[in-house]
Amino acid sequence: MLLRMALRKKMAGLTAVATAVALAIAPVPALAQQQKGPPVIRDTESEQLLREYTRPILRTAGLEKQNIQIVIINESVFNAFVADGRRIFVNYGAMMQSETPNQIIGVLAHETGHLAGGHLAKMREQMAQAQTQMIIAMLLGAGAMIAGSRGTNSNGGLANAGAAAVAGPQEMIRRTLISYVRQQEENADRAGVKFLTATGQSAKGMYETFKRFTNDSLFAAHGADPYVQSHPMPAERVAALEEIARSSPYWEKKDDPALQLRHDMVRAKISAFMERQDTVYRRYPMSNDSLPARYAHAIATYLHGDLRSALAQIDALIQQQPANPYFYELRGQALLEGGKPAEAIAPLRRAVQLSNSAPLIEMLLGQALVGTDNKAYTEEAISILRAAVARETEAPLGYTQLAMAYGRKGDFAEADLASAQAAFLRGDNKTARELASRAKTRFAVGTPGWVKADDIVAAKPMPGQSSN
Ligand SMILES: [Zn+2]
Repeated sequence: MLLRMALRKKMAGLTAVATAVALAIAPVPALAQQQKGPPVIRDTESEQLLREYTRPILRTAGLEKQNIQIVIINESVFNAFVADGRRIFVNYGAMMQSETPNQIIGVLAHETGHLAGGHLAKMREQMAQAQTQMIIAMLLGAGAMIAGSRGTNSNGGLANAGAAAVAGPQEMIRRTLISYVRQQEENADRAGVKFLTATGQSAKGMYETFKRFTNDSLFAAHGADPYVQSHPMPAERVAALEEIARSSPYWEKKDDPALQLRHDMVRAKISAFMERQDTVYRRYPMSNDSLPARYAHAIATYLHGDLRSALAQIDALIQQQPANPYFYELRGQALLEGGKPAEAIAPLRRAVQLSNSAPLIEMLLGQALVGTDNKAYTEEAISILRAAVARETEAPLGYTQLAMAYGRKGDFAEADLASAQAAFLRGDNKTARELASRAKTRFAVGTPGWVKADDIVAAKPMPGQSSN
């Protein structure tokens, strides 16, 4: 399953280190202007792979206890950033443009370098200081201007000095911040290489990726890429990176072929779900019969309505890798969306089992059980969905299905509460409050359901989020 949804958290909390500088010195980047936070892609297979890429690096950086999440953003351009010390954000475009695991792992190591260095907090301090300096400088400048205008004819030059003082500090502070960012970037490079070496990995992929973004490269000339904007990549920085990366004993170490295959499978899946059909078939022509290409073909076939052909292709994939949970998940999803929920149940059960009960797949199974309209499945659906929403707290799908299951059972208090929780996760506070208020009237005062409903009624909108 590959879901596109909006991240509930307001974008204001998600300003990346480098974007923070961009905010201070340049027009607000498009991402920060969005009201509802970035659109996020949810997919167990992709998230699992990125978690495996990041885990050893976070461990060696001493961050394993922070429970840092990897969030995939629905953007095709290359970008990766840290924003709040809890999450690393990666555009799906960064995965598509990373041909090897080692290349994206290098980017993740660099971002972990920002996290480990506490660069976000330091940047905020630096910005606050810069702002104070700017205000003082402007006040001094204004003072000088007033003095200049009062200075009658004795010293007319002072007025101009005042004007210069007003324009000057902004430029000075801009330069200070840029050099500060460069310093942080170099520190993150060095930390990244250190983490890679400590985990027995090469920094070649990191070097390869950053080299593509060098200031004088064709890539940078386009100027549209957010990663290039937030990662000033002068040739000296890339040269310094190359030198420390080459000094590692793992420089020539290649990716494990099994990992490379999983990487290629995830890229094929992302391409098939996110890119135009002609792009998918250009990347993976019909003549390509590799497993990733066949994965992309099967997904593209199901997405474009040919369920029978898609199922035949998925069955062939299952035959090749009978223990791959994501092939069964795909089979279930294709059947579910093809209007055959009863037939989706068996493959989804298998997917849940093989994926060690991945909550997003459990939600899909819950959806299939509820979708059959067979009351015999209601209790099972409720228990699976409850388990799923307890572990996966940000996906509204689980609550939407839970609400339907409770409704079928005639438990309207729980149904209203689950609908309120789904609305809350979608960022629709008005509906969430209305449903939660109604749920409160259906629960006995003080019961756990009543308390949860009351929490939603009382929840304050996120800062900057509209109250409706
Ligand atoms: Zn960086």
